[in-house]
Amino acid sequence: MVENILEVKNINLGFQSEDNFYQALYDVSFSLSKGKTLALVGESGCGKTMSAMSILNLIPKSAKIISGEVVFHGENILNKNRKEMSHIRGGKIALIPQDPMTSLNPLYTVGDQLLEVINIHQNLYGDEAWSKAIEAFEQVQIPDAKARLKNYPHEFSGGMKQRAIIAMALACNAEIIIADEPTTALDVTIQAQIMKLLKEIKENNHTSILLITHDLALVSENADEVAVMYSGHIVEKAPVAMFFSNTNHPYSKALLKSLPSNKSDMLDTIKGQPPALNQIINGCKFHPRCNFCMDKCMQEVPELAVIAQNHQSACFLNN
Ligand code: SF4
Repeated sequence: MVENILEVKNINLGFQSEDNFYQALYDVSFSLSKGKTLALVGESGCGKTMSAMSILNLIPKSAKIISGEVVFHGENILNKNRKEMSHIRGGKIALIPQDPMTSLNPLYTVGDQLLEVINIHQNLYGDEAWSKAIEAFEQVQIPDAKARLKNYPHEFSGGMKQRAIIAMALACNAEIIIADEPTTALDVTIQAQIMKLLKEIKENNHTSILLITHDLALVSENADEVAVMYSGHIVEKAPVAMFFSNTNHPYSKALLKSLPSNKSDMLDTIKGQPPALNQIINGCKFHPRCNFCMDKCMQEVPELAVIAQNHQSACFLNN
């Protein structure tokens, strides 16, 4: 049986503005299996990054988790205090951000920053810490590791910076890596190298990966399971092969149709725009853009329901 290492249960989250409260996540639930990659997919603003940041309790000041749990090693880590959470963050659950410069301090060498992480999370110092740092750099295939540790972030290319962040996760034996659009800022060749590296880490170290992406091509090559998000709701969940062979939700189908294909020079686009946070849409949030919208869709919210073994979808067409 596959072990669930992390369970996100019914997270409801909203933002407080001066005069209103806007809900951004609705009962978001998913689990991460040991040594597997779950891809959280959707357009910008659908709530995928906010869902991931909820796990680390790194949500903006104006945001509030109204209800829900994040269970890691049997404990709801949303109840942890700041010190306990900083031990988990970076040590057990590592974040690879879209822009590595948000994690690297330009004023310190990359080596000093990696050593600090090793000191804090592995309790190693001096030569032992240095050896660990070199080993981590070698594992992420940064050539001439010893010399490179003395470089400042600006002396690294985008791909090298991302490798250095991944080295930090490796040096701490992180059990989970949250990779938030980790290759968006990189060119295609480097993108493939970074994804290959993450895949190797998953396979060799049994690390679990939560991959946040809008790119379904990346999902098909790198994920084991998929959860599609739309406007704060998870609308479809399935193992990756089932998702691509038996896509159910109209939004997932529309996303797939908008993928570049060899068959046609023209790309399909999804009509309209995802709703803004302050836009009130009754019923299924996708209904204004859905080609299959029925009267019921404008009044009631479809629940995420089991439609086949390991396959869930939130659409009235399945009723
Ligand atoms: Fe479309 Fe209705 Fe299904 Fe929503 S519930 S995706 S509007 S058919």
